[in-house]
Amino acid sequence: MSAVIPLQAVKREVGCNDIPVRVERGQREVFCGLTGIIWMHRKIQDAFFLVVGSRTCAHLIQSAAGVMIFAEPRFGTALIDERDLAGLADANEELDRVVQQLLARRPDIKLLFLVGSCPSEVIKLDLSRAAQRLSRVYSPDVRVLNYSGSGIETTFTQGEDACLASWVPELPADTGASERLLVVGTLADVVEDQLRGLLKGMGIAQVDFFPPRRSTSLPAIGSNTRFLLAQPFLADTARALEARGAKHLPALFPLGVEGTTQWLYAAAQAFGIPTSRVDEVTQAPRQRAAQALSRHRALLENRSIFFFPDSQLEIPLARFLQRELGMQLTEVGTPYLHRQHMAAELALLPEQARVTEGQHVENQLDRCHAESPDLVVCGLGLANPLEAQGLTTKWSIELVFTPIQGYEQAGDLAGLFSRPLDRRTRLVA
Ligand code: SF4
Repeated sequence: MSAVIPLQAVKREVGCNDIPVRVERGQREVFCGLTGIIWMHRKIQDAFFLVVGSRTCAHLIQSAAGVMIFAEPRFGTALIDERDLAGLADANEELDRVVQQLLARRPDIKLLFLVGSCPSEVIKLDLSRAAQRLSRVYSPDVRVLNYSGSGIETTFTQGEDACLASWVPELPADTGASERLLVVGTLADVVEDQLRGLLKGMGIAQVDFFPPRRSTSLPAIGSNTRFLLAQPFLADTARALEARGAKHLPALFPLGVEGTTQWLYAAAQAFGIPTSRVDEVTQAPRQRAAQALSRHRALLENRSIFFFPDSQLEIPLARFLQRELGMQLTEVGTPYLHRQHMAAELALLPEQARVTEGQHVENQLDRCHAESPDLVVCGLGLANPLEAQGLTTKWSIELVFTPIQGYEQAGDLAGLFSRPLDRRTRLVA
């Protein structure tokens, strides 16, 4: 059982808004960082994620991803369990054997991630040395990197952050003279294509996305790189990029019409493009998005919503739901708050919104029950009991699996929240 630390209400300086942020520490109810493999393996088409873990890790990955596998999967588990307790040499031999078999069978793999987990047998293994050793063996055909998806170190979206941060040192140096834009964070291909089209239409010719679709097409970075975060959970990746000279462009996250527009404005400002050009390029998709949102507003307006901390997407989602769909925010929990990356978002939240960082699940459940919100956004583990108690829930994991960024997805994003309310209304009627 985790230590219980009482709630502290902490007044923070966040941009021009002094929204208080409560810090909570206690028992958590979140997936581990292995979960990120499920969306990242679909994006990076020549990468393979090899979880070095136990049967529990294998079950998590299989059950979370099982329904989504239509082709030969790009992830698997090297089981390092009780059999290997005899010694680390055994575990390293076992890992080498699994990697050798895998790469012999799958010549399409160009990048192999060894993903650490929390069983004590795995913690004892030095995966970074194993990755270096295997990289030497399989160079130049396959690059081997490692990161941790352990539940001790990561919550579920932090797995992507750890993965991308481990990859940044591999990016080639940009020695060119012109400024380039880098969009950072895993996006569905359809979203990437739309955003690339808008950015090019605005006049930004050099746009790269990280992670790329193929590990062999890595973007070059350096002091001429300006980067926009497409996902709010990439603190370590941003730090690694900054260490390579790249400059972060502070912005809202591209969720909803306002978020997407402000995100594009941030790029425009950095590249000396007038906002009128952005307005021109985005006029048609903005109109389509506004129309799509109006259909959901009738269901969502004035309904209350409570976010348990899970994905780190909670604050941008709360801003979108409150400002574009008229929802009332009760509690907005986030597992971790990066105050700089989130400053623009926090500045737009209403003062009465209760923002919490970290988790004490029992206390949050008490507050949730007391407030009885119309909709609760939470992890899978909490959703069923809350539904059984009469609350309407939305699984936060769906928000990471579904394309939700950009104008064309704004209606779908609103639908993820209006559908459970609609379903509950029909069940009750
Ligand atoms: Fe469980 Fe840890 Fe494996 Fe995640 S990494 S599935 S928390 S044992």
